[in-house]
Amino acid sequence: MKSKPAKKEPKVDPKQPVKPTIHTVDDICCKCAEANGGKMPPGSCNTMHEGKCELCGETATLTTKHDYVWPKKLKIGYVWD
Ligand SMILES: [Zn+2]
Repeated sequence: MKSKPAKKEPKVDPKQPVKPTIHTVDDICCKCAEANGGKMPPGSCNTMHEGKCELCGETATLTTKHDYVWPKKLKIGYVWD
């Protein structure tokens, strides 16, 4: 007879909502990107859209963070030196 598997503990404590960080969001506004060290690669053509920034919650022109390049220490994927 198999014992019931232990109930999985939720990773997120509902009482303590996790603050979104640059690592947990996809679409962010230019302000948040710059505040986190993101730079728009010169000459790039990005797909932007209006929406609510996942970081600051403001309605702004958003673009995916993967359209930016980031300082190496952030380990986001696209880096600049
Ligand atoms: Zn923002």
